[in-house]
Amino acid sequence: MTEHITTVAGVAVDTRHWIGGERVASVETFTDVSPIDGSTLGEISRGTATEAAAAVAAARAAFPAWAATSRAERARILHAIADGVEKRIEDLANVETLDNGALLRSHRRGVMPRVAHNFRFFADWLLKLEHEDFASRGHTNHVSWDPAGPCVLITPWNAPLMLATWKVAPALAAGNTVILKPAEWSPLTASLLADIAAEAGLPAGVLNVVQGYGTEVGNALVSHPDVRRISFTGSVPTAQHIARAAAANLTPLSLELGGKSPLLVFADADLDLAVDLAVEQYDNAGQVCLAATRILVEEAVSDEFTRRFVEKASRLRQGDPRDEGTDLGPNIHPRQLEKIDGFVRRALDDGARAVIGGKRKDALYYEPTLLTDVAQDSEIVQEEVFGPVLTLQTFGDEEEAVRFANDTRFGLAATLVTGDHERAKRVTARLVAGTVWVNCFFVRDLQAPFGGSRHSGVGREGGTWSFDFYCDVKNTVTAPNGWQDH
Ligand code: NAD
Repeated sequence: MTEHITTVAGVAVDTRHWIGGERVASVETFTDVSPIDGSTLGEISRGTATEAAAAVAAARAAFPAWAATSRAERARILHAIADGVEKRIEDLANVETLDNGALLRSHRRGVMPRVAHNFRFFADWLLKLEHEDFASRGHTNHVSWDPAGPCVLITPWNAPLMLATWKVAPALAAGNTVILKPAEWSPLTASLLADIAAEAGLPAGVLNVVQGYGTEVGNALVSHPDVRRISFTGSVPTAQHIARAAAANLTPLSLELGGKSPLLVFADADLDLAVDLAVEQYDNAGQVCLAATRILVEEAVSDEFTRRFVEKASRLRQGDPRDEGTDLGPNIHPRQLEKIDGFVRRALDDGARAVIGGKRKDALYYEPTLLTDVAQDSEIVQEEVFGPVLTLQTFGDEEEAVRFANDTRFGLAATLVTGDHERAKRVTARLVAGTVWVNCFFVRDLQAPFGGSRHSGVGREGGTWSFDFYCDVKNTVTAPNGWQDH
């Protein structure tokens, strides 16, 4: 064991950056703490503008060779990375759970297999991507997808490796080189990904990982003139900052941001299904961008819905996320808990009523909370809490349901539960949201566009949309009869 290796859940994790195929340490470090018990997981290299510049230079140097690598070879290496992820699912799941407090069982069975799938999907999609040819007035048009260059990928802590690889996989598949900066509250699995990618044969400098604070190394990365794409998942204020920094270089941006999504329950709904979907919103202790945190129920069924909701939610088990029986783990950080509690306190002072929950528990746990008697224009209805806090409002008719649903500055997702197919079509057409789920929730195929409207984001990821973003699309027009006319 060297001083730069920390052992987390029996897994050796390098705490340094990964730049140009080498481990690089910073002079200063920051402490990574587990939200489960406050234990120190490691002293992580705290990057500065110097490491940001080194990582961009490494990505720039590696770009021409990787861009020129055949699609088949790029796809082969991405599948090898997926193999490496699959071999280390247990390690990745254990480390991620200690680092961000989300459930071990979902990391093991859902999230980490999906991380591997992210690489397989974009490897296969790359091979299917068609270069388009068409004739126009005798000329041939040839549309090609050219790699863009070094891409900076900045990601949050609520689903660290999952969200990072949604970006890393398509960026690499497209022939770009990458600088990944994971969130400072959950830096560890990105370091393991660097190991896995190197073992899979990804050439040095193609994937770089830098650790540190957003305001330091993150800011230096998004301000760098040699960066050709910035893809960011995180909060609205950070996105606004990044957009300003990117404007100086006109760097194209993809922004996946927060939400305040509605769950609409109509009187004709299967109420058990509606309750199941509503209680599911407490998953990951409410730290899910897509969470439908505003429950809107038609007046006629609101008493019955609430009764069944309380019955089901009161059976949720909060505790150590490593235990198989736990439904809700801790929230990520004392600062986050403070923020959640502040939202709830202000709502209660404002006249809201806690049907369940409404306060902190021990350590970083917050009671699953449902608040009623909340006004549409109140803070608790309008702002993202990012904790296990839902509001419940009632509506009289479809018109009012749609009005409430669309009346925030966000537009990430919406879920509706109804037994009436025609109503589903009518309402869906009027909702402002990047994704609408009808009688289901959280189902996503990587082929589908994903992203948000309004303050929930700019651009879409997934399938062709990812390649649109990560490529410079070029049209080449050739004269009739080819070269003979010149
Ligand atoms: P955050 O904005 O605080 O941080 C996200 C990342 O940005 C971190 O890596 C951070 O270090 C970095 N960062 C911070 N300041 C920066 C700067 N000035 N320059 C460059 N980088 C900087 O967000 P968070 O608290 O980590 O994540 C929670 C938010 O993310 C919530 O709003 C949630 O809804 C959103 N989110 C959105 C999606 C989506 O797909 N739409 C998915 C998950 C989370």
